[in-house]
Amino acid sequence: MIIETLSVFPEMFDSVMHASILGRAEAKGLFSFRAYDLRDWTHDRHRTVDDEPYGGGQGMLMKCEPLYEAIEDISSTGPRPRVVFFTPCGDRFTQATAERLAAEERLLLVCGRYEGMDERVYDLADERLSIGDYVLTGGELPAMVVADAVVRLLPGALGNAMSSEDESFSSAGLLEYAQYTRPAEYRGKTVPETLLSGDHARVDAWRRRNAIERTCRWRPDLLEDADLTDEERAYARSLLHEGSEGHA
Ligand code: SAM
Repeated sequence: MIIETLSVFPEMFDSVMHASILGRAEAKGLFSFRAYDLRDWTHDRHRTVDDEPYGGGQGMLMKCEPLYEAIEDISSTGPRPRVVFFTPCGDRFTQATAERLAAEERLLLVCGRYEGMDERVYDLADERLSIGDYVLTGGELPAMVVADAVVRLLPGALGNAMSSEDESFSSAGLLEYAQYTRPAEYRGKTVPETLLSGDHARVDAWRRRNAIERTCRWRPDLLEDADLTDEERAYARSLLHEGSEGHA
């Protein structure tokens, strides 16, 4: 997979994109990364990428010309990239989006700055993504969030191929179960006995139940789309009912 970014601060990607799991995935050839500098597509002495908004108002907007030229140039070589723009007005980025993007051959992640972009640049977008309902100073952090979430899904990126399967928001649509490591007792706090039993079937059953309990407690909104058996759904309903009585 090829992941590329287009922004006015390409140096921001240096450490994150080459460290830890992403660095190892890149070294293994699972993906290649390149951060383009939008100012390389400007034609004036000051390498201008922004201008005042028509109609007045606060701040500056990213101009059409460098963005159009850059995206056309970058896209003209190699496989056609899926072009993703970051904006708080975009679709909410989720694990399902990460799974979909991980199947792409090439991603071009376009990062805004200032007050955003001239609306006409979005004609170049295959999609617009938001990483949440808050406003950041630029699209570089969202691009890193997306790249990180996507790369760790590439086959071979995580040491253990199974390790992304049980995670929060994965195929079952539940939060992940609670996990513990040594020591078995710390400051009087003990690890659930089942997890020490060595009985894999019991451990699996405990984890499934625990994932349902945690989802009911912290993210009941996920339950509607979760992949649950009839029995599990009844259990979840009973937990929610108990919770609502507790709060009455
Ligand atoms: N004026 C814009 C608005 O109110 O929607 C916000 C612009 S923001 C200060 C500058 C850039 O940061 C955006 O163009 C976008 O690329 C990026 N950005 C900020 N918050 C974001 C978010 N929650 N998700 C994705 N991108 C974001």
